[in-house]
Amino acid sequence: MSKQDYYELLGVPRTASDDEIKKAFRKLARKYHPDVNRDNPQEAEAKFKEINEAYEVLSDPQRKAQYDQFGHAAFDGARGGNAGGDFGFGGSGGFSDIFDMFFGGQSGFGGRQPGPEKGADLRYDLEISFEEAAFGVEREVQIPRTEDCDTCKGSGAAPGTQAEVCPQCKGTGQVQVMQNTPFGRMVNVRTCDRCNGEGRIVQTPCRDCHGRGKVRNKRKIKIKVPSGVDNGSRLRIAREGEAGVRKGPPGDLYVYIFVKPHKLFAREGSEVICEVPISFVQASLGDEIDVPTLDGKVKLRIPEGTQSGTIFRLKEKGIPHLRGNGRGDQHVRVKVLTPQKLNERQRTLLQEFAKLGGENINPEQKNFFKKVKDVFGV
Ligand SMILES: [Zn+2]
Ligand SMILES: [Zn+2]
Repeated sequence: MSKQDYYELLGVPRTASDDEIKKAFRKLARKYHPDVNRDNPQEAEAKFKEINEAYEVLSDPQRKAQYDQFGHAAFDGARGGNAGGDFGFGGSGGFSDIFDMFFGGQSGFGGRQPGPEKGADLRYDLEISFEEAAFGVEREVQIPRTEDCDTCKGSGAAPGTQAEVCPQCKGTGQVQVMQNTPFGRMVNVRTCDRCNGEGRIVQTPCRDCHGRGKVRNKRKIKIKVPSGVDNGSRLRIAREGEAGVRKGPPGDLYVYIFVKPHKLFAREGSEVICEVPISFVQASLGDEIDVPTLDGKVKLRIPEGTQSGTIFRLKEKGIPHLRGNGRGDQHVRVKVLTPQKLNERQRTLLQEFAKLGGENINPEQKNFFKKVKDVFGV
């Protein structure tokens, strides 16, 4: 088999400069890298070997001179001892070694391998009742999110196959672009367009995720809402967000709590406030009334002569503290109702009641009108 001319192999003229030879070699080496030529790796390897041999000779001034003079004959007989001529292409290790030698990341070509990235955080709005906020609740919710594909374990490659290192960027996800500018040569780094910056290329895509390595799922997640949360509380559930990128950890799930208003209770921190109507008779004579609390009805004693708006405190009937022990109190504000529809008999009795009080106007009111006079002088 006659050997191809070294210059022809590299596709350069015999007058090519060292730089041109080097450039041509790099271009071809990339083209025939076995990682790129999975379809026909043996042929690619053979080709690479030839190119490498040509470059070895043409990049060495002494050997180049010999070759220029004598052609292949210059090295006949010396083949076996060709130092560095055989890198052991049988094993992939040897091959990467030589590739690294010329294009190695250390020596300035390319940046770092694109690293793992944490997945995006997710937000879920959860509406709960007043009581659930007070005492906590466990809810199972469905969160639509992106997860690693089960079939390919997130690689995107069909089972039994593997994603391959992108030949264009050699797995870095970035390529350098030389540009001649008025200020000289500039090197721009841009995202590799062949692998979209992933650094890997999937030749046989997984069927379930179409090579994306990710699938959309509706994941059932149990949310444990602790007692004492309030409107606007935010719970963080670690690692339940979107899947990470390149084996990075998943993001977090943030659950925003919305508490439905209660028919009877209002809330301020861990204090519960409620208003209870009582009759003016109960307010005057005193009574024991039922008051609703989060724990059910409790008895509350209304003392004689209670004014409307008086607040009574029920200790530890409020909301459990979110952190720590104990509970807030419940504040019961009584509202004295004035009767609106009096029958004749009631009217008579009330008039008698006033008369028995000695005056048509009670002392409080007398005081009040005295103040009015002080202020307005009438
Ligand atoms: Zn898959
Ligand atoms: Zn790439």
